[in-house]
Amino acid sequence: DPSHPSILEARGITKSFGGFCVVNDVSLSLSASEILGVIGPNGAGKSTLFNLLAGALPIDSGSIRLAGTDLTRARPEARIQLGLGRTFQIPRPFPRMTVLENVMTAAQNQRGESLFSALATASLVARQERANAVRARDILDFVSLSHLEDQPAAVLSGGQRKLLELARVLMAEPRVILLDEPAAGVNPALLDLIIDRIVAINKLGIAVLLIEHNMEMIGRLCPRVMVMAAGKVLAEGTPAEVTKRADVIDVYLEG
Ligand code: ADP
Ligand code: MG
Repeated sequence: DPSHPSILEARGITKSFGGFCVVNDVSLSLSASEILGVIGPNGAGKSTLFNLLAGALPIDSGSIRLAGTDLTRARPEARIQLGLGRTFQIPRPFPRMTVLENVMTAAQNQRGESLFSALATASLVARQERANAVRARDILDFVSLSHLEDQPAAVLSGGQRKLLELARVLMAEPRVILLDEPAAGVNPALLDLIIDRIVAINKLGIAVLLIEHNMEMIGRLCPRVMVMAAGKVLAEGTPAEVTKRADVIDVYLEG
């Protein structure tokens, strides 16, 4: 469909640990305007799939393309620079840094080793930092964490840490974000906010691949889901379609 070009394409992704195949010939195609859900029981290989897409782990075989560029062997930093952002199932903010500083560390234009830093004058660096702070504050406002910007990240609740993760990923100006269980450990009061922010992020033109166990969240966000079980794609369809399937119900009962 030319009106919905694929932004992220994975073909035949495979990964074994010690002879045990954890991700087995997984292919997916995410269109630029889409929120695609990834569901499946614990141990299905969902987080490992994200680690492979993000470059945190090398793949054994298969290929990964982002907006037509082959990223199969690219370093994680190169993937981030090309617009692939990800959050972790268990957020790891820098606990003693402030919320604002945590967001600013995710900026892509202030890498210490860059040519920019080597050649830049002190005033140019300072101007860059101020511009980053303005953007970081806008993003904190977007995720409703502005009131906490000067607090150390250690004081944040589980749900607020998930929002901080969203803020950090947005700071890197992604085209695609991989969200690993954004609702896990989040109290119901923040769940609606997180769902609403994911919708808003998608409306900005950012494609979303969403791992989530919370089926209410999946139902509200995802027109289409893929079900993973034992490293493979077991089913694809609407949330209503796949959750009716006997083979899908079976793997959840086994898991
Ligand atoms: P999910 O996110 O679907 O719950 P994971 O991708 O975390 O599943 O894990 C899939 C399987 O791979 C599990 O059996 C897990 O123990 C195993 N696994 C994950 N990471 C590693 C690793 N670094 N080394 C060995 N086994 C791993
Ligand atoms: Mg997981």
